[in-house]
Amino acid sequence: MTPVDTHCPYCALQCAMRLEVTDTVTVRGRDFPVNNGGLCQKGWTSASLLTSPDRLTTPLVRRDGRLQPASWDEALTFITERVTALQDAHGADSIAVFGGGGLTNEKAYTLGKFARVALRTRYIDYNGRFCMSAAAAAANRALGLDRGLPFPVTDLGDADAIVLLGSNVADTMPPFVQHLAGVRSRGGLVVTDPRHSATARLTAGGAGVHLQLAPGTDLVVLLGLAHLVVAQGGVDGDYVAERVDGFDAWRRSLASWWPERVEQRTGVPAAQLRRVAATLMAASPSRGGRGAYLLTGRGAEQHAHGTDTVTAAINLALALGLPGRQGSGWGCLTGQGNGQGGREHGQKADQLPGYRSVSDPVARAHVAQVWGVDPDDMPGPGVPAVELLGRLGTPGGVRGLFVHGSNLVVSAPNASEVERHLASLDLLVVSDLVLSETAKLATVVLPVTQWAEEEGTMTNLEGRVLRRRRAVEPPDGVRDELEVLAQLASRLGAPGFTHDTADVFDELGRASAGGRADYAGVSYERLDAGEALHWPVPDRDHPGTPRLFLDGFPTASGRARMVAVDAAGVADDVRLEAPLHLITGRVLPHYQSGAQTRRVTELREAEDAAYVEIHPHTAGRLGIADGSWVEVTSLRGTAVAPARLTSDIRQDTVFMPFHFAGDQRANTLTNDLVDPVSGMPEFKACAVSVRRALGYPFPLAGTA
Ligand code: SF4
Repeated sequence: MTPVDTHCPYCALQCAMRLEVTDTVTVRGRDFPVNNGGLCQKGWTSASLLTSPDRLTTPLVRRDGRLQPASWDEALTFITERVTALQDAHGADSIAVFGGGGLTNEKAYTLGKFARVALRTRYIDYNGRFCMSAAAAAANRALGLDRGLPFPVTDLGDADAIVLLGSNVADTMPPFVQHLAGVRSRGGLVVTDPRHSATARLTAGGAGVHLQLAPGTDLVVLLGLAHLVVAQGGVDGDYVAERVDGFDAWRRSLASWWPERVEQRTGVPAAQLRRVAATLMAASPSRGGRGAYLLTGRGAEQHAHGTDTVTAAINLALALGLPGRQGSGWGCLTGQGNGQGGREHGQKADQLPGYRSVSDPVARAHVAQVWGVDPDDMPGPGVPAVELLGRLGTPGGVRGLFVHGSNLVVSAPNASEVERHLASLDLLVVSDLVLSETAKLATVVLPVTQWAEEEGTMTNLEGRVLRRRRAVEPPDGVRDELEVLAQLASRLGAPGFTHDTADVFDELGRASAGGRADYAGVSYERLDAGEALHWPVPDRDHPGTPRLFLDGFPTASGRARMVAVDAAGVADDVRLEAPLHLITGRVLPHYQSGAQTRRVTELREAEDAAYVEIHPHTAGRLGIADGSWVEVTSLRGTAVAPARLTSDIRQDTVFMPFHFAGDQRANTLTNDLVDPVSGMPEFKACAVSVRRALGYPFPLAGTA
């Protein structure tokens, strides 16, 4: 059979791969700018998901308290009747939709249309709220547009300085590390992280500097760096005068952030701050450098002040004259596979396709015309994810929920509370490949296609639209979500949905035309011909936009906006009864909630359970040995896992990976307080106590 060229099912780097199909599917790395043929362990093993023994192949409907096999007709009839009854009794907004950043562009678009046209509900949001929302809000506010990287990844190779704020790319997207080779050779890699992570270790041997800051203090570090840049004359005055508003207020806001004060708040030595400021200034084009980048990741963004932290990074980049200049810039490293495209086509509570606002009458009229509906019949804005989850099963709240591409029971903050809300619904419909922890709570489970069984497009972290291609037929009984949504819409009295992926993509292009994320000029034909198309692509002759902002910013004035921000502490901060910070993150073998990667033998063997990283001094004080089981307790609950002692973590901090369920679920502990601007929860820092878990084996062999 002819090999099939496609991309990895997991993260936003979207490494290119070639699938060779015989009796089995063999994955080969394929030459492509972001990965140059490389894949990580997750990519290499991704084909085993296609034949997972856990694969769902028949719909399940809960009867007599148990999920039982049903035909597709029975399942869709059940859903239709239940939705109709609930909406007749409680109104259209009694049904909600929760999407995912791993869905193809076509699915994300159709899900937004399904919510607003077929269900007529304003309640739709998605798990990208937990991932990209702080960076998106900051970028929109400052630059007028949110595209994770406003430049191709390959541009990074020539820089003299790259600051990675809260991102562990060496574990989360290993092929990305090759793009850091140039800056490492020039000693300009800077990593902020409370752990001496695999990425922080890339700064060793003169390659750069690791700022091992206290959790939640990236914002203070950025204010300190900005203070030094201003004080030492590093501002690119010509650039600021020509392209930036708000400079004077920003400069005044920095006056008190001298390095020694920053050291006190963050634990980062003043000398290191001065070194980093000097590196950034020397790398800046205004000083004759080759270029500098500031890149934010979830460690810096997932806080109750996440938007302000990213704003501080953008402010600093603007002061140095970086955004909109080839070879320099600010960017955010998108996490989920289609975390970029997933936030452009209408899954967000306040957005219509093309990044249009659901509150804008002109935008509503445009999209309504494409959808063939009256704009007055389209619902208005909903609420962000955490607020939406809080309304599930409440009096006067949401009674039924559709979940696509998300495993909330493991991945949402304050997950026990989310579990309670899900369990109190009258209808929970989960579309998934496997019986995830969320699917186990469902009223109806629908088995759907995955990755190598479907056609479509994804948009990677640099805004490049990519083709996903079918290599194998799905198992009998499994359906594409586009087909499922079209059938449900038809049963609910809303025609006009198709499950032909190319037709959906063309419709998406028309709906996005003229919007900020404009796909009107992208087509399957152009992508299949190998064109590198980064949006916006407003027409079929347009070559795409690999680098944004070169000629101006898409704001009303055409200039970027500096927004002065002040330092904010961690809301759930350490105290006597909870004296340690908990931080969470990903480990190399696993992805997101682990629903997929925990089912891949090689990945499970590499890391089959959660653990708690603790500094040996802290562990010694608490009487904890390497491998001892420990209880980690926050205001929201307790998780249990073996201790892993390492001096790579700060003494005031413990770390847990968030891919695991049950007693080992890190998100039992995390805080669902949100950033007021973006709705991002405070995932990345909360106060915990840690003690030996006496009921567990001690010490446990094989966990050290
Ligand atoms: S998980 Fe990410 S880094 Fe790993 S192969 Fe897939 S796309 Fe590449």
